[in-house]
Amino acid sequence: MSKNVDLIISPKWIFTGVGSGVIENSSIVIDGNLIIEILDNTVANEKYLAQNKVYLTDHLLMPGLINAHTHAAMSLFKGFADDLTLQTWLTDRIWPAEKKFVDEKFVYQGSRLAIAEMIRSGVTTFNDMYFFPKETAEAAMQIGMRANLGLVLLEFPTKYASDPDDYLTKGLAFRDLYRDEVLITTSMAPHAPYSVSDESFIKVNTYAQELDLKVHVHLHETKFEVEESLKSYGLTPIQRLDALGILGPHISAAHCVHLNDTDLDILAKNNVCVIYNPSSNLKLGSGLADIKTMLEHDICIAIGTDSSASNNRLDILSELNCALLINKGVNHEADFLNPSEVLKMATINGAKAIGQESRLGSLESGKYADLVAINMNCLEMKPIYEPLASLLYSGNRSMVTDVWINGQPQLRDQELINIDVNELLNGIDSWKHKISQI
Ligand SMILES: [Zn+2]
Repeated sequence: MSKNVDLIISPKWIFTGVGSGVIENSSIVIDGNLIIEILDNTVANEKYLAQNKVYLTDHLLMPGLINAHTHAAMSLFKGFADDLTLQTWLTDRIWPAEKKFVDEKFVYQGSRLAIAEMIRSGVTTFNDMYFFPKETAEAAMQIGMRANLGLVLLEFPTKYASDPDDYLTKGLAFRDLYRDEVLITTSMAPHAPYSVSDESFIKVNTYAQELDLKVHVHLHETKFEVEESLKSYGLTPIQRLDALGILGPHISAAHCVHLNDTDLDILAKNNVCVIYNPSSNLKLGSGLADIKTMLEHDICIAIGTDSSASNNRLDILSELNCALLINKGVNHEADFLNPSEVLKMATINGAKAIGQESRLGSLESGKYADLVAINMNCLEMKPIYEPLASLLYSGNRSMVTDVWINGQPQLRDQELINIDVNELLNGIDSWKHKISQI
């Protein structure tokens, strides 16, 4: 007798994220928010009776993409501070604008804009670090997006918190409030070594250990950051954190652009996960992270967009294309990195960066049903000899047609299901009007 389930999706190809290739003639069976099984089309229809059946005859189905480093609410600063180096971008434009505009409403609206863009780009989980995380959580839950939200900490006051203890108190209260929500998880998020003291790093790390949380931090983003640290501490930021005894597999470090051999050894020895943000590093003129040497050191690499204010796209497929091309070019090696290797940065490695590899990052029985479908039947991609190569070298996010998060459809035939796009755009225009008065 057939077993009743909610959904069976039968696409042309499936990239499960386990192994390197795609499979054909297979269906994925989903019940509730979980993947039950992936099996042959005929067997699936004999074994299961689905309430909904979706046939995607021209599509590649794969795990939802994980944006492992972003600041969603900063979408409202998209295009507000272009063509500046990180220090000028932060001190002259972003920090003053944040001081003036960033409050609960800003974060809620900016997060909605970011989430809408990410879903349309095939992103089903984002790893965020920003003020007022409760507003981002509300935006994500109302829409049905999955988010790992950072309990941010800086040494200086903002509208969100007055001092390091206040950041911590607010962060931990936020975590308590949302700890039973399936779509929301949290990490500790000390902003960066140049904006967080030794004392605060130690405190954050103690909470992370006690609560079994990841620590999401910006690290070695610019040459300037490393030089200033050497002047102030006589150590690079990585060496400083190592001396504090806080590095370990629970640390997910965004950027890591400027590393010496000792830094690399420290990251490898401590199993720190690196979150690579190629477009943001390029746009801010920060440099190029040496992915090849990191991989030679067996360092886990996830991938992120960083915020819309320094990218300006929350588009993981375009980050993957950038990662492939740049790393072949700078290493003078056309066979370095292939599409399935970089896709793992945006799937299982992204899940590792937020400590959720047992639930996310691949299409396997028992994992959450977070999926993205891409229409491959388009002139930009045809003919298709190898689907993953077609997707990453010829395709782009405009070919993403369907997205499911936690078993629920969020994008159907390129239409957002839980977002009124016109209403969202009107709200954004009024923020732009306000922000441009600065
Ligand atoms: Zn960042």
